Amino acid sequence: MLDQPLHPDTLAVHAGRSDFAALGVHAAPIDLSSTNPLPDILHGGDSYESMATGGHPLPDGGNVYARLWNPTVARFEEALAELEHAETAVAFSSGMAAMTAAVLSHTTAIGKRHVVAVRPLYGGTDHLLDSGLLGAEVTFCEQDDVAAAVRADTGLIVLETPANPTLDLVDIASVVTQAGDVPVLVDNTFATPLLQNPLDLGAAMSLHSATKYIGGHGDVIAGVIACAEPTAQALRRVRAITGALLHPLGAYLLHRGLATLPVRMERQQRSAQRLADWLAEQDAVSEVFYPGTHDPRGLVGTQMRGSGAMIAVRLRGGYAAAEALTGAVSLFTHAVSLGGVDSLIQHPAALTHRPVAAEARPGADIVRLSVGLEDAADLIADLQHALAKAEVVAAV
Ligand SMILES: *Cc1c(COP(=O)(O)O)cnc(C)c1O
Repeated sequence: MLDQPLHPDTLAVHAGRSDFAALGVHAAPIDLSSTNPLPDILHGGDSYESMATGGHPLPDGGNVYARLWNPTVARFEEALAELEHAETAVAFSSGMAAMTAAVLSHTTAIGKRHVVAVRPLYGGTDHLLDSGLLGAEVTFCEQDDVAAAVRADTGLIVLETPANPTLDLVDIASVVTQAGDVPVLVDNTFATPLLQNPLDLGAAMSLHSATKYIGGHGDVIAGVIACAEPTAQALRRVRAITGALLHPLGAYLLHRGLATLPVRMERQQRSAQRLADWLAEQDAVSEVFYPGTHDPRGLVGTQMRGSGAMIAVRLRGGYAAAEALTGAVSLFTHAVSLGGVDSLIQHPAALTHRPVAAEARPGADIVRLSVGLEDAADLIADLQHALAKAEVVAAV
């Protein structure tokens, strides 16, 4: 390898592949073993013990059982960690499984009870925290009120930026300062490691729903958390006990997806800026939420290296217009999820944010767009046609 630090585009292609030449392969090997032959009881048992408590397999003891360790998953974790400027990473069967492990390992597992969560958040995260299911008590607050919300038994602070669905930007460094000694988890799903590296700003964990941009093709459900090794051990312990495993085929696809993440994000972001500018001029649209056009705290270009490719719009015609718009698009697919090569549109209040408490739920006049790799002019034509229908409805 070269001595100089590599650029993210290069890392995205080469991370997690340094042993390929020695293995004589050009694509990552996939290890589908659910169990592994044991060298002997003593060494197998020691390796089991190491992994069950959150560590690595011991070299002379083997991987033992795939709920404890899988080399294909570990290879993806290593690559993601490099892109996130993190010591390591831990992958899970979904973004929600990752969030669950983060909460459990920082509350119940260490005798703390309290979590502070900065709203807005992805609806599933909000619901998980609000449900009380994990035994933690949660205080929801705004980004400037974190210091006041922290208690002696606070084990974790959760924030998301850009936040779902209205692309609010949260000042990570400010929350880290307010947090004092309490670890801060940043949901970095919308930004990806290409646009934002929360650990560089003092966050303890950067979480991704890898289902979105990292996979990028709408065919894997997964989550991953980049962090330091002691945190990773706590997360792996929860993963081993609760079984929230990422399947090796999913890990293979995510690792492959990383290679094209920089070019996908660059192109999708460029199209998103064009769409956001165009949407701002449409009569049917009363408000555009996009970091490239609305950044009150000046975080684009400082905390974030770009604005990303997610947009939300408020429609003058309210819910009826949202229904007409989502029903009239043809290139955009009317579907939840985001971050893939194809463009999606959805209504957060009815879908992704349905379980959120009424006072924090997005308005019924808001729709969210995930801008894909199609030509921006075609996407604009699709929206123009569909917005015309939304205006007709709104006028009635
Ligand atoms: C989708 C999403 C999640 C949940 O991830 P899953 O992979 O669906 O479990 C968490 N955070 C954000 C920002 C998301 O968009």
